[in-house]
Amino acid sequence: MPQTIPVAGPWITDLETSYVADAAANAWYGDHAIYHQRFEAAFREAIGMEYAMSLPSCTSALHLSLAALGIGPGDEVIVPDATWIASAAPISYVGATTVFVDIDPLTWCMDARAFEAAITERTKAAIVVDLYGGMPDWQALEEIAAAHKIPLIEDAAEAVGSRYKGRMAGSFGVAGAFSFHGSKTMTTGEGGMLVTGNRKLFERAQFLRDHGRPAGDRFFQNTEVGYKYKMSAMQAAMGLAQTERLDELIRRKREIFDWYRQALSGREDIVLNFEPDDVLNSYWMVTAIFDPSHGIDKLELMGRLSEHGIDSRPFFHPLSSLEAYRDTEQGKRARRINSTAYDISARGINLPSGFSLDEETVGRVCKSLCSILDETGS
Ligand SMILES: *Cc1c(COP(=O)(O)O)cnc(C)c1O
Repeated sequence: MPQTIPVAGPWITDLETSYVADAAANAWYGDHAIYHQRFEAAFREAIGMEYAMSLPSCTSALHLSLAALGIGPGDEVIVPDATWIASAAPISYVGATTVFVDIDPLTWCMDARAFEAAITERTKAAIVVDLYGGMPDWQALEEIAAAHKIPLIEDAAEAVGSRYKGRMAGSFGVAGAFSFHGSKTMTTGEGGMLVTGNRKLFERAQFLRDHGRPAGDRFFQNTEVGYKYKMSAMQAAMGLAQTERLDELIRRKREIFDWYRQALSGREDIVLNFEPDDVLNSYWMVTAIFDPSHGIDKLELMGRLSEHGIDSRPFFHPLSSLEAYRDTEQGKRARRINSTAYDISARGINLPSGFSLDEETVGRVCKSLCSILDETGS
């Protein structure tokens, strides 16, 4: 039985394993934080931000951002309807109301006009997602946010290394959040990072992530109830190695996308990830949107690919369609108006995008995908 072609997976070299082994042996006692410091410094440099905080996940980075902004019950926070639930769940953690807005049909990210239309006097923030490595129209979003004095938080979990008009993903808004989950472009197994240029927000987040201990506290004098959000030195060591190899990781992601682009060129019934002139897309997940004329459901297509030994993922279901949100007032409203999110999501899948791929395997995936689609619809 040949092995299934996996949908995602990391690229680990001797650099990662040697740093992790060194951390396991040596990052204790007075040196317990050296890998955190080196990782955060390297990452700050890579993204071009003043402050960076290593964390156990991107979810915790988003939670801390909202908490540090003082967002709570009665406040509304806007998110795109099509994203992983981790973009939105922290809004519930702080007791605020989640407002789901539609996506742009090209970038698949938050639509600027839908964002503006959803703003009320209770809107206290928006979490903007760089979906699958692509970038939204940041200029339009920033202008609207500035006009309404609404802080933007960037969920760059899927976009480390992407750029918009020369600016790195994660550097937009008051705070940027990254994920180093094992499926992501850069990994520490599990992990995340909060970056910001705002010292006050950073210091508040530092305080909250350490059980509400004031800076420099050595006598366990907690002044508020906070959280415990840290990664281990072994994870930080892996993150340092991956950051040192970030350019190489992005180059390979773009090469994998290019193999798909070439193999599927001429197929007008398959649309892949968008990259306008002023964007560099780091293509976390190669994503295919198939023409409605095929009349095939994405889950059915995934099942057929699986028979060919190919793993895939569904395009994120609209959050407002999930049982977790379906019966909320905002969920019901979103289902009526977010037509692009519902349309794109219904006919999109993520194709194998892991670092273990080679060009021949990508060719096999494309042949299977095309033959399955050719058997369906018109
Ligand atoms: C993976 C992901 C997250 C969550 O990352 P964790 O590190 O698992 O918390 C958040 N947002 C998006 C868009 C993601 O893809």
